Amino acid sequence: MAIRGTVRLAAMLAAVVVLVGTGCGSDPGGGGTGGGNASVATAEKATPTPKATKKPKHSTPKPKPKPTPKPTKAAVAKPATKIVFVNVGQGDAAIIKSGSWTGLIDGGPSGSEGAIESALRQLGVSRLDAVVVSHPHADHTGGLSGVVYDYRPRQAYVGEGAGGASSALRSVGTSIKQVRRGETLRFGALSAKVLSPGSLSGDANEDSVVLLVDDGGKRFLFTGDCTGANESLVGSICARGPPLYLLKVAHHGSRYSTSSSFLAETNATFAVISVGSNSYGHPTPETISALRAAGTRIYSTRKNGTVTLSVAASGSVAWTFAKSSKPVTKAGGSSGGGGGSGTSTAGSSGGGSGKVYVTETGECYHLGGCQYLSHSKIPISLKDAKAGYRACSVCKPPT
Ligand SMILES: [Zn+2]
Ligand SMILES: [Zn+2]
Repeated sequence: MAIRGTVRLAAMLAAVVVLVGTGCGSDPGGGGTGGGNASVATAEKATPTPKATKKPKHSTPKPKPKPTPKPTKAAVAKPATKIVFVNVGQGDAAIIKSGSWTGLIDGGPSGSEGAIESALRQLGVSRLDAVVVSHPHADHTGGLSGVVYDYRPRQAYVGEGAGGASSALRSVGTSIKQVRRGETLRFGALSAKVLSPGSLSGDANEDSVVLLVDDGGKRFLFTGDCTGANESLVGSICARGPPLYLLKVAHHGSRYSTSSSFLAETNATFAVISVGSNSYGHPTPETISALRAAGTRIYSTRKNGTVTLSVAASGSVAWTFAKSSKPVTKAGGSSGGGGGSGTSTAGSSGGGSGKVYVTETGECYHLGGCQYLSHSKIPISLKDAKAGYRACSVCKPPT
């Protein structure tokens, strides 16, 4: 009897958790800060939840469901991944680390060596396995020579060439390989499919190396400054697979890339724009509104500082931002509340307001330890959370 009673009580408690969870995620009204109507079925994730025996359904089906890859054997097979969009100002530099393998996609404008090397040190990296030079423009290669001398990459992947970094690469003995559409590169435990260029058009931006990186089914697209016919082709290739988890927006948010049809085909949940102060008007209002219309949550290195994604073996993703954690909602460079450069990475804010977290798809904000953060954990200020999300009724964050 006592045992049966305990079992029944446990079942009731589980039911309560499920009910509470459903209530928390059931209101589809929350456009709010990100407008992210992208939906990933949180309940499918295999991360164990200590309390409930059944998986609580935290997010409700949305108009545009995005299938999530099954994490199944990931816990044993795949090491953790870090993807870092380094804040190099007006230019691109992204680090990918998979287990002990580390690669760098582009090296930012001249003067960004310090920021890139500091990010590499923070990851505990002393040597690069590979660099990718998307195309030989100075805002992608200017900072590369210094990094190449210090981190002696074994391999370089280029489309057109490595531009100003060529002699540095040769002098440290890096093997340089021209890549073309259709090849698949191995980035540690990840695969990186070359989607562009096929043949060279003669326009350096259009001929950017475009990589589709797959991390256990989560897809990340690195576009360089791709545009034109090659961008259209990349879109059509992406459309054959599941939606992107993250799009590195091409050409710093220029209006000449990221067309609405491309966005419809790639269907990204998140976008990161690598951009600094510039006279080109990057990112342009057209690009920002197209991304928002596609339901993509946007971050930029200009507004958010260096953006880091930590993808655990289970597939759960934790985001950290060196500056503001508020998504980009308009094109204006520094208009948003962030103002200066206040650090808002997890756990560092004071003054009683505290840092809370949202998930990729839910409409609630949570305390750091909440069970609903097992799938994704994206910091946000309490003020922004209150503006666009509801307080989770399980962990009861401040309201
Ligand atoms: Zn370019
Ligand atoms: Zn560029």
